[in-house]
Amino acid sequence: MTETFTGGCLCGAITYRAEADETLHYLCHCTHCQRFGGAGYHAAIVVAADDLTVHGTPKVFTNTADSGRTIARYFCSDCGGHLFTSPNPEATRFSVKAGTLDDPTHFQPKHEIWRQSRADWIEPDASRELFDQGFTRPVSIGAPAVDPDQDKF
Ligand SMILES: [Zn+2]
Ligand SMILES: [Zn+2]
Repeated sequence: MTETFTGGCLCGAITYRAEADETLHYLCHCTHCQRFGGAGYHAAIVVAADDLTVHGTPKVFTNTADSGRTIARYFCSDCGGHLFTSPNPEATRFSVKAGTLDDPTHFQPKHEIWRQSRADWIEPDASRELFDQGFTRPVSIGAPAVDPDQDKF
């Protein structure tokens, strides 16, 4: 089933639309997502790059994540709102930040990664599949799955 959603940053300079047959809704508790997002964790929907249309030009910050992979983090240079992350330099997939959705109820996370660095004050949710670090097996709603060797956030 095709999943369609839209969103944008706080000031509206950057907006996006995703139409995807395969998505993955997840939370990431890694220390870089915490610090970059200024929040307890990163909540996002993974889509293939071809399925995401972006209007406006986000600024990009790139560094080496807890997983050892290089991750690019995209944000608005006007309001500072964080919009996307992607493995770099491949950028074949983008994680779209759930807090930027026009319809926040669209987000239904099924997995949590980097549990080992989860903040104490966030209650675990036993209904979700938990990973101590990144994904250790292919996971997706549809196929093809996120490849644990390629898509570590
Ligand atoms: Zn903005
Ligand atoms: Zn993370």
